[in-house]
Amino acid sequence: GKSAVTVLGLGAMGTALAEALLAAGHPTTVWNRSPARTAGPAQRGAAVAAATAEAIAASRLIVVCLLDHTSVHAVLDGQELTGRIVVNLTSGTPGQARELDARVAERGGDHLDGAVLAVPSMIGTPDASVLYSGSRGAFDTHRPVLEVFGAADYVGADPGAASLQDAALLSAMYGQVAGVLHAFALVRSAGVTATEFLPRLVGWLTAMGGFPADAARRIDARAYADDVDAALTMQVTAVRNLVRAAREQGVSAELIAPLVPVMQRRIDDGDGGDDLAALVEVITAEEVA
Ligand code: NDP
Repeated sequence: GKSAVTVLGLGAMGTALAEALLAAGHPTTVWNRSPARTAGPAQRGAAVAAATAEAIAASRLIVVCLLDHTSVHAVLDGQELTGRIVVNLTSGTPGQARELDARVAERGGDHLDGAVLAVPSMIGTPDASVLYSGSRGAFDTHRPVLEVFGAADYVGADPGAASLQDAALLSAMYGQVAGVLHAFALVRSAGVTATEFLPRLVGWLTAMGGFPADAARRIDARAYADDVDAALTMQVTAVRNLVRAAREQGVSAELIAPLVPVMQRRIDDGDGGDDLAALVEVITAEEVA
């Protein structure tokens, strides 16, 4: 039969995880701080544990999906984890994942840390993916269970690696969110609706879609000054113009203005001929040789 799994935490995400396990036929035990949330999974066949220790005793694989790192500690601290594999899918920082890894090891358990790249409704579909880091052995052994949630990608032995890559992806997303929302605010200030402007914006973003690949090549080769189409000295002037254009229109430039001082620092260091990709070095504490 299929392996038993315990899910600690039945918020929106924990409930989706538990329901995917039940749908895939895994004997599933659930626990939640507020007992009311166990009713749904119980109806679909989950065993409900009255206490955390009972939930942990029920399965070798313990999936944890709580609000934050503090709630994970509130639930797991003091628990006996010998022979248990803790799969933590609670969002946190790389440092928090490493700290949890040490705590789980102290109590005799193994730990995989995960970052869910999906909303609850996507769990159990091919659109969901989860990044995992930490114990390679635990990942390999339990991969079939982990794939119940969606694509399972192992990204490294450092327990913090999944959180780190999650932070990188979300940072890139929020950067794009900032730019897109600023663009809509700017055109709306001149009476152009967002919907009207949308095709032009999408076309432009598509045309500019080669930026990540070009930047990646430059960053890995530290080749910021080779074949530069648009040097920082020109680009900083362009971004200053964007800030001014926004202000003229009564739109705050705060979502895009932070680029200016970072660009200016590279120029002040004598590298104004560099490509935009050089900003990676400006924001990195020590330039890696
Ligand atoms: P919810 O707010 O829906 O659920 C939070 C859960 O944490 C509840 O089960 C809650 O229990 C529990 N909890 C909070 N504090 C404590 C505590 N001190 N002790 C014990 N239990 C506690 O959040 P989600 O399910 O949406 O998110 C859970 C995790 O998944 C988060 O880390 C989130 O970042 C991550 N995630 C969520 C995504 C989403 O789209 N929802 C996407 C990707 C990641 P109670 O019911 O008793 O309040």
